[in-house]
Amino acid sequence: MMANAVFIQPPGAARYKFNEQHPFNPLRLRLAIDLLQELDALKSEDIIEASPASETLLSLIHRSDYLEAVKQLSLDPPPEDWVQQAQRYGLQTEDTPYFPGMHEAASAIVGGSVLAADLVMSGKTLHAYHMGGGLHHAFPDRGSGFCVYNDAAIAIAHIRKKYDVRVLYIDTDVHHGDGVQWSFYDESEVCTYSIHETGKFLFPGTGFVQERGAEHGFGSNYNVPVDPYTEDDSWLESFTASIRKVAAAFKPDIIVSQHGCDAHAFDPLSHTHCSMRIYREMPAIIHSLAHEHAQGRWVAVGGGGYDIWRVVPRAWALVWLEMTDHPISSTLAASDANEPLPAGWLERYSSMSPEPLPTHWMDDTRDWPPIPRRAEIESSNRRISEIVVQDL
Ligand SMILES: [Zn+2]
Repeated sequence: MMANAVFIQPPGAARYKFNEQHPFNPLRLRLAIDLLQELDALKSEDIIEASPASETLLSLIHRSDYLEAVKQLSLDPPPEDWVQQAQRYGLQTEDTPYFPGMHEAASAIVGGSVLAADLVMSGKTLHAYHMGGGLHHAFPDRGSGFCVYNDAAIAIAHIRKKYDVRVLYIDTDVHHGDGVQWSFYDESEVCTYSIHETGKFLFPGTGFVQERGAEHGFGSNYNVPVDPYTEDDSWLESFTASIRKVAAAFKPDIIVSQHGCDAHAFDPLSHTHCSMRIYREMPAIIHSLAHEHAQGRWVAVGGGGYDIWRVVPRAWALVWLEMTDHPISSTLAASDANEPLPAGWLERYSSMSPEPLPTHWMDDTRDWPPIPRRAEIESSNRRISEIVVQDL
């Protein structure tokens, strides 16, 4: 029987941890999963494990010398001659430093995203969610921006190779999905779309409107860079109009979406000013597009998100609630609706969180300070998103 949605959590993914101080903290996954379990929206027996990706899978995107570098630098301690090479493979930066077991942990994450793709493409489930995936900055020959292996790109390459269908990749992380974009830049059967804070001010410094794809891939790459301090209304207006047109024009057979939740006002690594509202509405739009254009086939992965207590658990839980048509999801769809978070979750974590935890699913933005230049930001974003889809 076909399942409606499956939840994938590879056991090794929790070991993807650079160091104690690093913002990319695997505790994020625990917090989000616990939130869903407190709500009874996810039972332990419904969590599917995945095996680590094989070298053959990793090679769909990554160069063999890079794979060797990752493996050598995973040893504890790594061989001195490979330590000398770490810099050139992007694995000796403050953002992406090598760590013991890095190859195994990163392969586990890739395994989760590939399994999600296989379960959806083989018709065992309509939707699949791998919260630990979405490492969209990794390149074929180097690590970048907290990402060692690009699980999203590998899952897409695997779908192309094994099933030969058209893939629409939607990246809603506040950072440009550069690693995935460049991996398929000259391919016509993979369409990449990314909405993010403009690269003028934010890592990785790319993702401009003019990046449209190359050769056969020209016209199957879309970027919607928004201004710093963008708020919910403008973000959602820019997203909704453009992604609907892109999906209708491209006609995907499957949608792969990345759900980084770092555009939130509380996030320490970006300058946009959105609330939880965009993390309820974007998954709902993507869900409807999957049913409209791709017979429901939808793979969702996680991504960035560095306010691990106040933002990530709610945002990532909302993806699953939307995917499974949970009643809370429909309740929250009404404007101004809100629902309390489960008391058990708040009790368990409030003493651990450095900031007071939110008590409800949606943010109460009424006491947020107003953003100066709001009208200017909105009209600039509107202009940009119109240019993106002007030919569609
Ligand atoms: Zn990000």
